[in-house]
Amino acid sequence: MSVTTTSKATPWQIYKRLLTYTARHRLFLIVAFMGMIVEALSAGYFASLMKPIVDETIIARNQVMLVQLPLVIVGLFIVRGLATLCTDYGMARTGGSVVRDLKHEVLKKLLRLPSSRFDAEPVAVMVSRLNYDTEQVSQSATEAIKIAVVDSLSIIVLLGWMFYNSPVVTLTMLIVAPVIAAVSAYVSRRYRMLNRKIQEGVGEVSHMAVETLAAQQEVKIYGAQEKASTNYLSLINRNFRLGMKVEVTRGSASASVQLFAAIGLAVILYVAGKQVAANELSPGGFVSIIIAMMAMLPSLKRITNVQSAIQRGITAAERLFNLLDEPEEQNLGELKLARAQGLVEFRDVSVRYNGKESNALNNVSFIARPGTVTAIVGRSGSGKSTLIRLLPRFYEADTGDVLIDGQSIKNYLIEDLRNQIALVGQKVMLFDDTVAANIAYGSDMHDEKRLIEAADAANASEFINKLPDGIQTRIGENGSLLSGGQRQRIAIARAILKDAPILILDEATAALDNESERLVQDALHHLIPDKTTLVIAHRLSTIEHADQVLVFDEGHLVEQGTHQELLKKNGVYAHLHSMQFRDGSRHESKA
Ligand code: ADP
Repeated sequence: MSVTTTSKATPWQIYKRLLTYTARHRLFLIVAFMGMIVEALSAGYFASLMKPIVDETIIARNQVMLVQLPLVIVGLFIVRGLATLCTDYGMARTGGSVVRDLKHEVLKKLLRLPSSRFDAEPVAVMVSRLNYDTEQVSQSATEAIKIAVVDSLSIIVLLGWMFYNSPVVTLTMLIVAPVIAAVSAYVSRRYRMLNRKIQEGVGEVSHMAVETLAAQQEVKIYGAQEKASTNYLSLINRNFRLGMKVEVTRGSASASVQLFAAIGLAVILYVAGKQVAANELSPGGFVSIIIAMMAMLPSLKRITNVQSAIQRGITAAERLFNLLDEPEEQNLGELKLARAQGLVEFRDVSVRYNGKESNALNNVSFIARPGTVTAIVGRSGSGKSTLIRLLPRFYEADTGDVLIDGQSIKNYLIEDLRNQIALVGQKVMLFDDTVAANIAYGSDMHDEKRLIEAADAANASEFINKLPDGIQTRIGENGSLLSGGQRQRIAIARAILKDAPILILDEATAALDNESERLVQDALHHLIPDKTTLVIAHRLSTIEHADQVLVFDEGHLVEQGTHQELLKKNGVYAHLHSMQFRDGSRHESKA
């Protein structure tokens, strides 16, 4: 299943969609825009100040201007500083808010995707999308906006000022400057290309030396010293010549760039000189044009590169939007279900995973009644986990139907359906929080007395009370301080607190020590009465006490009955029993 390239949106559509995220935070965007406008205007104003500075204070020695102009300059930079602050804060605030919104939305979306979606992409990739793509989007969007607005405005303002002062000189500059830029771009490209070749060559040279010296015995025994050193020589010779070429390029490059720049300057000076002579341009006007031109260069450079910033953002945004547009878990059921009786029925259920050749379950039918325990056994890969994943609708049956209390589970509201089910899996998920919060996970229960009762019933109080802060002890990342048996008992306490009518257990295959085993089993006995319990069983004691045992083989329900009945049958179960459950209460093989 391909998951990344589903959308055919054009970059412009993606960009517009992205803008809807920024639009939610338009107040700070407006602040930023105003800052940008002021920034651009001050760049122009600063260049224009050069004219009175030269003409009035330096040439005409105007005493009033001598005092005023420096003050104006300081004032200008105060204003400009404030404007920059507004721009930067406004953009950071907008960008940060967009990242926050996107991250929240993406995580919510991920949790609404069907389980099968998680088979198609590793969680690590999803997380990197969550972190990297969202940052990338906002970074490049804010960067692009800032460049597009500040720099293009600055260029317009500065160019306007230049033209206002002298169209002739400005036009001359506009013709000369691109020529110089083109020459220096060509030269630096060639220089980079040669340099890269040299870098590769250096690698090759040292590789060859290592190879030759490491194989010195072979070289000697075949009398190949001469040949090896000649090969080496030809390689370093080539590099030597390349090195010389680089030097020549660099030398001639900077000479030619400088020459072109000098010619350009000469032309500009000549034109400007004639203008000044004809009284069409004041000395201050000339200086001011030069300053404006120089002030424009960084903006020009940034604006020619803005495309790549936009592209990066668009690519990341496209990935995010594709994810946000993916189909979610089907949730068409409307039937409310406060508390089910717990009558579970599978009717002729078949399932095949995406991209698999054969069914994981084939025409499976059985009934599990309230107050009974159904043990599910079978070799690894026989379909046991698939079976229990259908009940909370993590996966859907392709044909047949799963029913609770006589109704297809598709008809129930999915939240209500899942509310009927408590799950104690092999891998117990614990969160970096207190024991109490872990037991109460998913419920809004904060009544410590109830939590302690649940812990008691799960045989968990025994170790919880030994923790430094009792039930309020933080258990650290993923509960690393707790043993396997302790973690399971916390999971059982969680299930006891949830008190759902249907209980799904996936017994740990890894051996617990005898004491833990006994405590866990005992805890389960508190949990099981009057529930409908489905358990993927690996322990003989569980199976012996089950009301019915379902035996699976390659997706087929091959046998059904109590432990005793099945033993008598002397079929698949009897075989499985003699292979796996021989040792009494535990079995060792990993399912
Ligand atoms: P069991 O729990 O008995 O070990 P499973 O229900 O996990 O068996 O697996 C039944 C079959 O379905 C196996 O062939 C397994 O490879 C396949 N299967 C299980 N989970 C997935 C999945 N998420 N995606 C694709 N195939 C799967």
